[in-house]
Amino acid sequence: MMKAWIDGGLMDEEHGLVSIMSHTLHYGTGVFEGIRSYGVGENTVVFRLADHVERLQRSAQAMHLDLKFTTQEICNAVLEVLSANKLQDAYIRPLIFVGPGTLSLDFHPVGNAISTLIAARKWDRYFDADGLTGISVVTGVGRRLTSQTGLHQAKVAGAYANSYVATMAAKAVGADEAILVDESGCIAEAAAANIFTVRGGVVHTPTCRAALAGITRDTIIQLSQKLGLKTVETDIVVDDLYGVDEIFLTGTACEVVPVTKVNGKHIGKGSVGPVTQALHESYQRTVHGRDSFSSNGWIEIKSIAA
Ligand code: PMP
Repeated sequence: MMKAWIDGGLMDEEHGLVSIMSHTLHYGTGVFEGIRSYGVGENTVVFRLADHVERLQRSAQAMHLDLKFTTQEICNAVLEVLSANKLQDAYIRPLIFVGPGTLSLDFHPVGNAISTLIAARKWDRYFDADGLTGISVVTGVGRRLTSQTGLHQAKVAGAYANSYVATMAAKAVGADEAILVDESGCIAEAAAANIFTVRGGVVHTPTCRAALAGITRDTIIQLSQKLGLKTVETDIVVDDLYGVDEIFLTGTACEVVPVTKVNGKHIGKGSVGPVTQALHESYQRTVHGRDSFSSNGWIEIKSIAA
């Protein structure tokens, strides 16, 4: 039976009941994170845990959700959930959500309790393709909710209805993923991942004006520089995509995923390019703790193997 951490303690997931009148269930007024851990022999490492939990804290603040736990307490809870479930290669899902009480939008935290949940799952791949096979993407199926909402850097549950609709539209035309644009038609990101292009050996990615400042995006910028690749944050429009050598997506869940087709057209040689391949490998070595990274890179749990 899987264990989850709820408001300070572990419990069996199936006993973690949520009210049908939960404010978050009705209005999407929750915030969440997605974190990955990796098995290294008997041990498990969690990559950039504090960075994820700090973003969770910022998301909660943006949504007026008063988080009752410190970053350190939530980091410890993540490690507890992994140990309790003997999970090594796992995807960890913290979620702050609002309980039942008023049905008006301006809930009051005294009336509607705010809960902190941390659950974890084995989730090997976000896309069917692995890092060595490309996926196909389409444009024109959605827009990113951007800075005009004031929330584009927060991972708000309700905002993912927009990503969901775009993803379903992409699937409906046989593609794997949707690419969303901002209000001026510049590419923002994928439904739940950042986008990069490679042209003439230079790595480009849209600014964070409309895209989430992904933690993997930041890792990849650092790894590109380590590999001696120039990186540029710039506006990219849909037409630009057809002329690049390589495209890839990044995210904690999907890691580094090559894109070999845009709107049915092959990109570059139509196969995974050398820069994408090198960054994919570098990312894997880094998240597993085999290559050095900054001091807040990993948190290790010893002897977790089942
Ligand atoms: N954009 C969106 C909309 C996302 O949901 C995610 C996943 N958190 C990303 C980008 C990638 O962010 P990260 O690398 O921090 O997982």
